[in-house]
Amino acid sequence: MKYDVIIIGAGPGGIYTAYELTRKRADLKIAVFEAGHALDKRRCPIDGDKVKSCVKCPCCSIMSGFGGAGAFSDGKYNITNDFGGTLHEHVGKKKAIELMHYVDEINMKYGGEGTKLYSTAGTQFKKLCLQNNLNLLDASVRHLGTDINYVVLENLYAELKDKVEFHFDTPVRAVERTQDGYRVICENGAYECDKCVISVGRSGSKWMEKVCEELAIRTKSNRVDIGVRVELPAVIFSHLTDELYESKIVYRTEKFEDSVRTFCMNPHGIVVNENTNGIVTVNGHSYEGAEKQTENTNFALLVAKHFSEPFKDSNGYGESIARLSNMLGGGVIVQRFGDLVRGRRSNAKRIEEGIIEPTLAATPGDLSLVLPKRILDGIMEMIYALDKIAPGTANDDTLLYGVEVKFYNMEVEIDGHLETAHKGLYIIGDGSGVTHSLSHASASGVFVAREIAG
Ligand SMILES: Cc1cc2nc3c(=O)[nH]c(=O)nc-3n(C[C@H](O)[C@H](O)[C@H](O)COP(=O)(O)OP(=O)(O)OC[C@H]3O[C@@H](n4cnc5c(N)ncnc54)[C@H](O)[C@@H]3O)c2cc1C
Repeated sequence: MKYDVIIIGAGPGGIYTAYELTRKRADLKIAVFEAGHALDKRRCPIDGDKVKSCVKCPCCSIMSGFGGAGAFSDGKYNITNDFGGTLHEHVGKKKAIELMHYVDEINMKYGGEGTKLYSTAGTQFKKLCLQNNLNLLDASVRHLGTDINYVVLENLYAELKDKVEFHFDTPVRAVERTQDGYRVICENGAYECDKCVISVGRSGSKWMEKVCEELAIRTKSNRVDIGVRVELPAVIFSHLTDELYESKIVYRTEKFEDSVRTFCMNPHGIVVNENTNGIVTVNGHSYEGAEKQTENTNFALLVAKHFSEPFKDSNGYGESIARLSNMLGGGVIVQRFGDLVRGRRSNAKRIEEGIIEPTLAATPGDLSLVLPKRILDGIMEMIYALDKIAPGTANDDTLLYGVEVKFYNMEVEIDGHLETAHKGLYIIGDGSGVTHSLSHASASGVFVAREIAG
């Protein structure tokens, strides 16, 4: 079977590649191979009732399938070059922002109209943060919410399904070079194409490493972010979240001069499990519709850990820490901030007596047995710093779920066309290590489609 273009992975990177290609070159024969299920078949078995925690499905429906890791996410599309990836280093700052706005227009066209675009431009919080040793990063953020994000994906699938051949539940095993293109090998057969776009995201990181080794594509990897997810009453952060929705705030610790930042803020949201390569970590999301909103807000506090030679396995380091929490807690551990400060584990009784009703059933425990001191000290310093701009953050009952790990895919060597050293082989989205967000991954898809369309 021969195609003009094969796209591997149907996350935002793959979807926007397919979308833009069908717009620009309706004549092309395009196939998408996706390890996970079609959108309507994606279901995480955790129902909070019979199944309370991760049962480690062979293919995680939260991370894989049409829509990729972002399908059940909060759908926050950050339009900025300040975080979310380094696409601008490949395509230029102006182009990167243009592409992110274009993605936003498509999202609006396919079901997102009416959702709010927040912005840090002219906000008073910039000054307040600076006065308290915190740095608020600049961005515009479109918040689709988990529900509308899903509707946009449904509509995009409806738009694409007759123009592109989708192969779901079909993980690609290998990619080989042929005389004039590429051979994509799956369990049920081999498929050939002139051009191949790989967009396998975080869940495909191990596989991506193997492909790069086999095709002699150079890679580098030296970063992992480790931390906790904080859950507190929504009113404590409401002055910030009402105006900005998501605020990316960076703090440099006094003790080690490490960088700690807020990440993925979910006003009135819920804390969720995430399964990466069989390891259960924590994440969060929130809904646009009022009926599903909670009384709590959650966000991650992450400490960036950069390693230097000879150590190369930064993700392995993050995994080991996450594994430790899984070993002690059977999954994610939750601890009250007050218990952490007093050096004692949390137990079910103390959590129950607290003012916050946890939105994730995690095991009460002691995060200081899991997180390295340097990381834990950084998180505690940041909580006290945030308490100055949002009093109540450092309350005893504030819940900390651990661990949250942000794995960075190793960075793949690609040029300004997002093309590898092999002509016609492109690597985009989070799988390339260049992007780490919905908007950057989607923008990289649009960019590469235009490159291929000519
Ligand atoms: C719970 C959660 C919430 C998030 N919230 C936000 C948010 O609000 N805002 C934001 O900017 N980002 C968010 N993110 C991150 C965001 O989802 C990712 O940055 C984005 O999805 C990356 O897109 P991608 O297309 O590069 O990769 P992915 O979305 O990871 O998609 C890759 C796809 O490739 C498939 N695949 C992997 N290997 C293979 C293979 N060998 N063969 C075939 N298919 C394969 C996978 O199954 C997957 O579906 C969130 C992530 C999670 C998990």
